[in-house]
Amino acid sequence: MLKGKTALVTGSTSGIGLGMARALAGEGANLILNGLGEAGEIEAIRAAMAKDHGVEVLYSGADMAKPDEIAAMIAEAEARFGAVDILVNNAGIQHTAVIEDFPLDKWDAVIAINLSAAFHATRAALPKMRARGWGRIINTASANGLIAQVEKAAYVAAKHGIVGLTKVTALETAGSGITCNAICPGWVLTPLAQWQIEDRMARLGLDEAGAIANMLEKQPSKQFVTVEQIGGLTCFLCSDAAAQMTGVPIPIDGGYLAQ
Ligand code: NAD
Repeated sequence: MLKGKTALVTGSTSGIGLGMARALAGEGANLILNGLGEAGEIEAIRAAMAKDHGVEVLYSGADMAKPDEIAAMIAEAEARFGAVDILVNNAGIQHTAVIEDFPLDKWDAVIAINLSAAFHATRAALPKMRARGWGRIINTASANGLIAQVEKAAYVAAKHGIVGLTKVTALETAGSGITCNAICPGWVLTPLAQWQIEDRMARLGLDEAGAIANMLEKQPSKQFVTVEQIGGLTCFLCSDAAAQMTGVPIPIDGGYLAQ
């Protein structure tokens, strides 16, 4: 379905972004991977994806907290492939603390990586998408893009912000062949969720099963969303069937937001 298209997924060395990248490669898209991690492990992921799906896979180590590195990453992708046809703004971090104790550097980092990076990448990628008359921008928001949670001021602000950015991007591109939507996952078992399980074990004196049950309390299915399911939704948003879906926050959350 996506043969000949190029997809750039930020934060795709791990978790949800890696699942999205694998799904897009499975549909034939060339990939630009991005994210932090150990060089040897990233190269193994890159090489396996290229081999498994017969697509070209590049890696950019751009730091999503740095606007100049984001612009350089998009420029590098365009120099190689002509355009970034599919931009997935997914990189994200978390920090939990009540507002009075929230460290200023953590606030700045969460807003920079989870929100501002999506603006910088979208701004840089749009001109070439417009020139081709086709594009898909998919922002990884969260259930926290639509509802709040204690101790997550920066994360909730960034995720609500990205839902707003998604809507503006959709309005400014409407009718141009470009769509922009936000995926809003509930709990997904990735490294970002794993440390929150460990945090609950330590704080609440729970074993792992107890901490997971505590975490999934508000997720009615009592099951984690999988990265493969999010990859499938990502591919659907790139399909012709989704060409008139734009500006929408889409829950994939086991019923979390239905309450
Ligand atoms: P993860 O920790 O597995 O992956 C995060 C990715 O972002 C990694 O590839 C990491 O290297 C990258 N990253 C972090 N800081 C970066 C930086 N400065 N520059 C470049 N890359 C950077 O976490 P995940 O759960 O896969 O999270 C991915 C996205 O999904 C995030 O935006 C997160 O907020 C969102 N999300 C996660 C869940 C969940 O339950 N796991 C739920 C809703 C939304």
